[in-house]
Amino acid sequence: MPTGATDPSDQPDRPDLPRVVAALRALVRLPTVSHRDPGRVDTAVFDAFHTELARRFPLLHAQLEATRVGGHGLLFRWPGADDARPVVLMAHLDVVPVDEQAPWQHPPFGADLVDGAVWGRGTLDDKGPLVVVCEAVESLLENGFTPAQDVWLSFGSDEEVLGASAVAAVEELRRRGVRPWFVVDEGGAVASEALPGVAVPVAVVGVTEKGVTSLLLRAEGRGGHASTPARNGPTARLARAIARLDRTTMPARTPEPTLELFRRVAPHLPGPLRAVAANARRLGPLLTRALVAAGPETAAMTRTTLAVTTLSGSPALNVIASTATAGVNARLMVGDTVEDVVAAVRRAVADDSVAVEVLERGEASPVSPVDDPAFALLEATTREVFPDAVPAPYVMMAATDSRHFTAICDRVYRFAPLRMTKAQRAAIHSYDEHVRVDDLLDGVRWYRRLLEGLPA
Ligand SMILES: [Zn+2]
Repeated sequence: MPTGATDPSDQPDRPDLPRVVAALRALVRLPTVSHRDPGRVDTAVFDAFHTELARRFPLLHAQLEATRVGGHGLLFRWPGADDARPVVLMAHLDVVPVDEQAPWQHPPFGADLVDGAVWGRGTLDDKGPLVVVCEAVESLLENGFTPAQDVWLSFGSDEEVLGASAVAAVEELRRRGVRPWFVVDEGGAVASEALPGVAVPVAVVGVTEKGVTSLLLRAEGRGGHASTPARNGPTARLARAIARLDRTTMPARTPEPTLELFRRVAPHLPGPLRAVAANARRLGPLLTRALVAAGPETAAMTRTTLAVTTLSGSPALNVIASTATAGVNARLMVGDTVEDVVAAVRRAVADDSVAVEVLERGEASPVSPVDDPAFALLEATTREVFPDAVPAPYVMMAATDSRHFTAICDRVYRFAPLRMTKAQRAAIHSYDEHVRVDDLLDGVRWYRRLLEGLPA
């Protein structure tokens, strides 16, 4: 693995570096990897992260009221001139582990500054967005600014695994009677090459996210010695169930946010596509068929997906399984419920001897409004800071901590104000994750303008 010596001027705290860049580099160097098993979390590194964050943003820590929630989650309150319409700005401190075999060009926890970018795990997901929020607040505090409304910062510490600290933050807000006007969390970005044929960047704001539900298919039988097999045992019945499930698709439709996305990018599409997109509402079924036909990625935009992931049978080659199981990961499109999915899976399996159990229940998030003053504020801020980009809603495929906030807030928007190329988006949870310095500075400007624009 290469060392961090690629840039000779690469000092931890080069004086000419913008503060936000120095802060990001210091925080990326702390490997705050979360684990499903809390016992495997290196709590010392999360403690060090808190210390470093306080050192980098001293006014934020001195002037905002901090509450620790759910382990290493942080909830800050910045009192505004009014508390009638509080807002919540979110990010998370933890990162996914690094695959040691992946060919990173720069060490994943080195935070090298190369070619005008900071490289490393978490630079986009989600330490970059975290530092731009903090820098915006810190610089406004330096100017003696008071926001028009209460501003809460909610930083989860286990977003990549459980999201328990976000749940704890929601509980704390509920306990204090806070009902946020809107929430902004990670999710969308100022995405270039967002859609085929669209030359301009699209500032996509997630207004709903798919729900994650896990099911277990279980077939049972007598088991026994492999020398005396009977027909139609647990593995055979399970295999049949899986094959049937593989031929099953949930009903496809194009949800409202996707129709609105197409309507907004229509003027930037070439000829015939432009007409279809502009009339997306009327031509909905046609659009749905086109998205399904275009491949698994666009098909996932139109429906609940089912994927068989884990499999288990007998523990030994010479033993017949008495139980065979298959895990099914479902991603629920808004409009479908967990009960709909369970019913569809039972119908597809069509075998009462194969049990279907729900292991993890996650409904699709409700759709946040687009025709609304809060969304209009995000949109106006985006047009100002990213004048070349088209702001548009979309349906997020992945899960974020902000889904927990839908319990106390109707307007949950998933958007990081950072430009991201297709390659950068692909690097998230993968390798060569990096963020450009100029893009961090734009991100700070976006949050500053958003906070300055909160209505009285
Ligand atoms: Zn994230």
